[in-house]
Amino acid sequence: MNYSIALVPGDGIGPEVIAPATEVLDAVGDRYGHVFNYVELEAGGAAIDSTGEPLPAATLEAATQCDALLLGAVGGPRWENLPGHLRPERALLGLRAALEVYANLRPAVLLPQLRSACPLKDEVLSASNHEGRAAFDLLIVRELTGGLYFGKRGRLEEESDGHRPGAAFDTETYSWREIERVLRRAYAAAALRRKKLCVVDKANVLESSRYWREVTAAVSGDYPEIETSFMYVDNCAMQLIRGPGQFDVIVTSNLFGDILSDEASVLTGSIGMLPSASLGDIVGGRPRGMYEPIHGSAPDIAGQDIANPLGTILSAAMMLRYSFGLEAEALAVEDAVGAVLDSGYRTRDIAARSAAGGEKIVGTQAMGKAVVELLETTRNF
Ligand code: NAD
Repeated sequence: MNYSIALVPGDGIGPEVIAPATEVLDAVGDRYGHVFNYVELEAGGAAIDSTGEPLPAATLEAATQCDALLLGAVGGPRWENLPGHLRPERALLGLRAALEVYANLRPAVLLPQLRSACPLKDEVLSASNHEGRAAFDLLIVRELTGGLYFGKRGRLEEESDGHRPGAAFDTETYSWREIERVLRRAYAAAALRRKKLCVVDKANVLESSRYWREVTAAVSGDYPEIETSFMYVDNCAMQLIRGPGQFDVIVTSNLFGDILSDEASVLTGSIGMLPSASLGDIVGGRPRGMYEPIHGSAPDIAGQDIANPLGTILSAAMMLRYSFGLEAEALAVEDAVGAVLDSGYRTRDIAARSAAGGEKIVGTQAMGKAVVELLETTRNF
């Protein structure tokens, strides 16, 4: 089958990590009989330099016409002093809004090979993991386009509590539709995993959280194979540290998801390892999707061939799974990444914290080639 992929390499290490990801996709295409057609688009600092704006209309137009979008990273010190509406990061918000991707999926996986990168003790990890392993694999689904970050906000200059006048407010507002659609994306993700969904909220205090529970009660009936549970966000923040292995999929609001996903990412060691997917409505049988590593453009290491490309390669695997429905192909990429790490290949960021011997420190390109070779040598299995 043929798939069109909007490719936004962006700035800094963006182009360096996107190149190996496309090589991996091409190897998957060769192995499974798919063709991936890339439409390379400018956004971020690179687009500011050539067109004067972070998200040219031509990029936006082309991005919405492709089957999925894969982005490296945007931004850098060179564009930092521009006014807010002209900064490279504007491109991200513009693309997310145009593609209407409201569910942000952030896996936090501690691979056994990178155990030493996790700050938690062995006994904490294995006690919380039902399989007794010192590793975990959880997925946080964060609502991305509603809630506190988009609600009514303002200043009340006249307000006074007897002291200095003035007050400020933000509001958490969620409609039934906004909650239902992100829940359904989370249930769909759980169906492809260990079939457990935990709704994280503050229902003991917040009316909006109680509404999330009402919607969940109505929607959960459509997913009888998924075990649904609820947890207060303060407890969840604690449980992620006490035992991340207890979680499969967590779904939560924009604010809680922002905080919890950063907390979870720290448990996995390097920012260079982590992928993400932002999904929208189903179009032609599959959700609209934008895929990117969670890291930024890392100007401090750009152009040196030392960036870890695995977060971007794993983002491409998420694209295969969610936007194209190619589960076997996604697993092949994830297995190849695991096998490359088993063989001792490490980029500098994951080597520094690894106590294991027999490591081969490699650059960005060599790491990508190692994953490609693995995919090619297992072609006939
Ligand atoms: P960053 O993620 O770019 O870098 C943080 C640290 O992690 C740096 O030390 C960097 O060297 C390291 N790092 C990041 N990715 C790595 C990788 N793949 N391999 C090895 N090490 C890696 O965050 P920052 O320094 O706060 O931001 C730099 C620029 O990126 C800023 O302009 C920021 O606005 C932008 N940014 C963009 C995105 C995005 O495009 N989605 C996200 C975050 C930040």
